[in-house]
Amino acid sequence: MIHALAELDVLHIWETGLSQSPPVRALTVLGAAFPDISREELGALTIGQRDAWLFAVRDLLFGPTMTATAACPGCQGQVEFSLRTDDLRLPEQAAPQQAHTLSTGGYELTFRLPDSHDLHNLPDDGGPDTARSALLHRCVLECRHAGGSVSIDVLPEQVVEDMAARMAELDPQAELQLTLRCAHCGQPWQVLLDIVSFLWVEIAAKARRLLREVHDLARAYGWHERYILAMSPIRRAAYRELGG
Ligand SMILES: [Zn+2]
Repeated sequence: MIHALAELDVLHIWETGLSQSPPVRALTVLGAAFPDISREELGALTIGQRDAWLFAVRDLLFGPTMTATAACPGCQGQVEFSLRTDDLRLPEQAAPQQAHTLSTGGYELTFRLPDSHDLHNLPDDGGPDTARSALLHRCVLECRHAGGSVSIDVLPEQVVEDMAARMAELDPQAELQLTLRCAHCGQPWQVLLDIVSFLWVEIAAKARRLLREVHDLARAYGWHERYILAMSPIRRAAYRELGG
């Protein structure tokens, strides 16, 4: 069951997540919002399922509309766009971590979809090729060719690409591509919406606002952080005005 995050939870997520990588931050957010589900289970959600759950958390925390700005590749103008999370959340997909199969180019592949444990365990050094190869090694369960088992290191590029395409099809929420249109020059372009970094920016901004309020009120009145955060935002705003 999803748990509505309080302001204190937001501060806790923020200070915990500051030193974490994005895949681990995502689990920190989910861990706070789904306290009944173990970290192990959350980490085993496919990336698309993880992102669908993050959209649900974001809904509760910030409401159904997301706004952001992006630079138009045509005229370089700043374009503000707003999205409804309902439009971005796809219906729940396949059960987590079942094995899938694909026959292509004479190869029989059995694989599972990438999850947060996989992303967290990718090597830090090395570029996208190293990461992709590490992900393949984790997610491909079996690879057969001409009646025998073969190493995934010998897979033709096309076979790897076919499997990547099949993975994206099976977990469409994992890669959310949006088409934006520039309000100034009409140019359309595509962007990938990364809910983890989008939500993190919002959480960090909210945490900083809260700390500012605590700072102002603690300085003006000598109150403890705990009491200040227990007040309603309206009351805090009123005291801040009075405190000058
Ligand atoms: Zn433009």
